Amino acid sequence: MEKSVANIYQLHESIFAVVGPEGATNFGIVKGEDGSALLIDADIRRMDEIEAALKETGCTTVRYLFNTHENFDHSSANDYFARNGAIVIGSEGCWQALKEDGEAKFAEMAGRAPELKNRFPDLKMGMPHISFSQATTLHLPGFGIRLVYSAYRGKSHSRGDAIAILDKQEILFAGDLLYTEVHPVTIYGNIANWIQSIDILLRENFAHVVPGHGPVVKGNALYKAAFLQFRNYLEDFHRRLMEIRSGGKSAAEIESHMKSGDYTHLGKTWMVKRNIEYFLNHAQ
Ligand SMILES: [Zn+2]
Repeated sequence: MEKSVANIYQLHESIFAVVGPEGATNFGIVKGEDGSALLIDADIRRMDEIEAALKETGCTTVRYLFNTHENFDHSSANDYFARNGAIVIGSEGCWQALKEDGEAKFAEMAGRAPELKNRFPDLKMGMPHISFSQATTLHLPGFGIRLVYSAYRGKSHSRGDAIAILDKQEILFAGDLLYTEVHPVTIYGNIANWIQSIDILLRENFAHVVPGHGPVVKGNALYKAAFLQFRNYLEDFHRRLMEIRSGGKSAAEIESHMKSGDYTHLGKTWMVKRNIEYFLNHAQ
């Protein structure tokens, strides 16, 4: 496994975003006054980066690990941190999703990264210790962090979508409800519901927003713009998918549309084909 220097953004004196390279998953760190931390999402494949970020930000221990949802890139280090004493928290939807097919998905994803077996021989999927149905508040010395279930009617980006809010500092960790500068993964969700979740978030005001993937957005106006831009993407994509289904357009036409015009600059272009193919094979 390669050592990489974490791309750490300081959002507040002791609140940080670790921004994944080229649209890889973002992680959040909130450091309490006693040095203990809330870690928001963790991917076992990027443990070097996470450990380096925790060290760099002066965290002494991870007290809580919050999964914004069930996907491997957000929840695969649950067992690792639990063994080191952390309490893992996720929404009820996240818990249910991991319970139902978390083991199988974990085995599949871990199988694609065989180096993990050498480094973490006992590696397994870890369930959250605590789940909440609508909202809960985590307390770290000096901070209260609100966790809010945000999947609309049970599924938006995924079944477990939940966000973390620091009210006083006006910071939002949006998980994969927001992608910036990269194509999203839509195969686990329901796009129409996802748009509803975004509309609810658009009523709020924040100074910093950390998306699940892509650069951090700073400033209230930009935050609204980023959500609106992403909402437009989802709406457009959804409409085009319906056109494929009704026979008006071909999958190839829609794929090229989603990679051109307003979307030309977006990274992770291979996602588009994958999203379309999945949609055509599974009713949404
Ligand atoms: Zn993700």
